[in-house]
Amino acid sequence: MIYLHVPFCETKCPYCAFNSFTAPLVEAQSYVSAVLRQLENDIGLYNFRHADSLYIGGGTPSMLAAKLYKPFFEALKGVLTGEAEITVEANPASLVKEWAEGMAELGANRISIGVQSFDDRKLKRLGRTHTAQEAIEAIGIAKSAGFEEISVDFIYAVKGDTLNLLLNDLRIAAELGVTHISAYQLTVENNRALQKIDRNLEKRFSLAIDVAGYPRYEVSNYGKKPSRHNAGYWNGLEYLGLGAGATGTARADDGWIRYEPLKSIGAYIADPRAKTIEKISQIIYNSERLMLGLRCNEGFERSRLTVEQLKRAKFLLAGGKLMARGDRLYNTDLWIGDEIWLYLNQ
Ligand code: SF4
Repeated sequence: MIYLHVPFCETKCPYCAFNSFTAPLVEAQSYVSAVLRQLENDIGLYNFRHADSLYIGGGTPSMLAAKLYKPFFEALKGVLTGEAEITVEANPASLVKEWAEGMAELGANRISIGVQSFDDRKLKRLGRTHTAQEAIEAIGIAKSAGFEEISVDFIYAVKGDTLNLLLNDLRIAAELGVTHISAYQLTVENNRALQKIDRNLEKRFSLAIDVAGYPRYEVSNYGKKPSRHNAGYWNGLEYLGLGAGATGTARADDGWIRYEPLKSIGAYIADPRAKTIEKISQIIYNSERLMLGLRCNEGFERSRLTVEQLKRAKFLLAGGKLMARGDRLYNTDLWIGDEIWLYLNQ
């Protein structure tokens, strides 16, 4: 798995917690060259051989011209498998025909569009620069460029949300033939003034997405074809993290490491090989697998549990809160995944 972070954005949204900057695009060319230097270095450093998924996220990847990605894709020849899932994120404001066609030509076969809502007033409140009409057009552009896997992001638990508004967003997405939905809750850390928590509303929205033909397979993700890249994260696979603000993981002799290249664009361009490295013990690694496995349909291996956790898991199995299939255990109610994790870790 490979993740490339593109930290450029047109404006900074008031709720955004991602590593993104309104940096001048003249830096984009130097940024891509820096990514190539990091890629070359890290492939050797981590003995990284093959990837069956690439995710280009941000920030706003659609702000960088498709031709700028060409050397990156060329450098990945022989690393990306023929059947690799290649996702690019795009924002409706910058998703234009030339970009979508260029990315499809380079090999991208999945697109994730930051729609957030099809309601203009909500988009304004969120500080987004695009309109509902532009979001609709962006989905049309992606389809015309040949993308069959189209995901949209929605954001909810926002002041002003009503069930009708959320259901209308869902209806439009379904009518446009979107194949996957990521619905994220605005969190308090993002912006308290914008947030409105209504568990009942959120549960009804989640259920509505599910019954509209997008089965819920993770706390925030819905679709008949789960993202392979996300499943890889939840299963704890190794991944190369490229770019300012990316995170990567690699196996180490005595467990795992998690690393992050420098976060500022300027510092990253100056030294793309520099990174902060955190060691992850097998105990922490197992605990993370457990937490992520409880938040999705991937489940987790029974062998990750300690003797104490196994005792508690047996109790949950007897009560129907967990389900066993072969060596794996699965959460039967994604709404209470975090509570189950706390109980197992008491
Ligand atoms: S477009 Fe996305 S990454 Fe950029 S500032 Fe807004 S929320 Fe953050």
